[in-house]
Amino acid sequence: MAKSTRMTFCSFCGKAQNEVRKMIAGPAGVHICDSCVSVCKTIIDRELSENVESAQPKGAASKERFNLLKPAQITAALDEHIISQDYAKRALAVAVYNHYKRLRSESRVDQAPCFVDLDSKYDDVQIEKSNILLLGPTGSGKTLLARTMAKMLDVPFAIADATTLTEAGYVGEDVENIVLRLLQSADYDVKKAECGIIYVDEIDKIGRKTDNVSITRDVSGEGVQQALLKILEGTVCNVPPQGGRKHPNQEYIQLDTSNILFICGGAFVGLEKIVQSRVGSKAMGFDTERNRHQNEVPLSELLRETQPEDLVHFGMIPEFIGRLPMLAVLDELSRSDLEHILQNTKNSLVKQYSKLFLMEGAALHFTRDALAAIAEKAIELKTGARALRSIMERIMLDLMYELPQTENVEKVVINRAVVEDRIKPKLHFRKAEKIDKPKAGSSKDSPADAA
Ligand code: ADP
Repeated sequence: MAKSTRMTFCSFCGKAQNEVRKMIAGPAGVHICDSCVSVCKTIIDRELSENVESAQPKGAASKERFNLLKPAQITAALDEHIISQDYAKRALAVAVYNHYKRLRSESRVDQAPCFVDLDSKYDDVQIEKSNILLLGPTGSGKTLLARTMAKMLDVPFAIADATTLTEAGYVGEDVENIVLRLLQSADYDVKKAECGIIYVDEIDKIGRKTDNVSITRDVSGEGVQQALLKILEGTVCNVPPQGGRKHPNQEYIQLDTSNILFICGGAFVGLEKIVQSRVGSKAMGFDTERNRHQNEVPLSELLRETQPEDLVHFGMIPEFIGRLPMLAVLDELSRSDLEHILQNTKNSLVKQYSKLFLMEGAALHFTRDALAAIAEKAIELKTGARALRSIMERIMLDLMYELPQTENVEKVVINRAVVEDRIKPKLHFRKAEKIDKPKAGSSKDSPADAA
């Protein structure tokens, strides 16, 4: 049979097979040569990079500076990490969405007018930054909310403790150090840091002295509020790159705080009394059947009625409160919330310990009443979910010490007695290995004794 001598041609440039290095065949007799493939790749790469750039805030390099998630997407993602606090999650989701939407639209008005209708009657309307105040008991998830939010949006995040600001003499310098921390978290990318989130904890502790007995600070608290006010409002900070005190010959990095989102958090112990005396329970609509029986209103419901004047009465200066227009109240966590936190969050303690145990070849099981007992202990300590870790660590320490040296453990069961009476947990061994010898070096007092 005669060998086919039919020549193939590139369907794009028309070159013959013998004029190119490689010819690729497609369906129905279509061909493309290697040089046309590389031209196509160049076109695609250029178009894709143009699309990315046009979706970026002014001056951005090659990557979007934050993920703009919709409020429902934000709350759904928060739900994976934070139990309960639905009200605070919604409030925070809306505030954060609006904040970043505003940043994105502002940067595009300058750069790409097509994003907004410039003839719109709202052209002159400036959307103000809406910093957030979180009110809620210790260990209810305020810091966790702020931190998770920043992670989700992929923006730099820094935490400051307002009480340390009062203790230092040089207030202004300290406040700039908060900004420095944000800059460090952005790897010294100033533009990125300017879109970041700063969480200021214990904000209630810098209230000026009032008739509120829990507040013992004097005017120095007010001084810190004034210093914080400047960065909350938006100012260009001179940040010493090494931190610490300023000195005249030092070089500074300038950072504009106008678009940094500030989330301030505090327990505001005693604020509920101020709110209650202003409105009275009837006026708040809390005179329900249930409340008449219980004769009390849940703390968080009361705090949701907070008005700026109540916070001023508490000791915050009006200008400061004016810069935190969004208020979100967190609930005190119940026993069942704490049980959920123990097992159901994405990185819950039970899941973490289970993973560690699995690495040793053993399953870990907590009975329901063991989880309830841990939650009850945490409630007694009055530090919300914060206590869970230390309680758990105390229960698990000996076990974590002995397990790597104990062979053939199939399952470990933690029940209420282990939590409450600190007895050793029940170990189940693999059937094939009836004789459970401790590995060399294990102490006599192995948890295996309890099996
Ligand atoms: P706060 O700032 O309100 O005092 P944190 O957010 O620092 O409390 O909480 C301390 C720890 O307790 C968190 O790291 C987290 O492990 C846990 N925690 C607190 N609240 C919650 C919650 N609602 N859901 C899940 N975990 C929580």
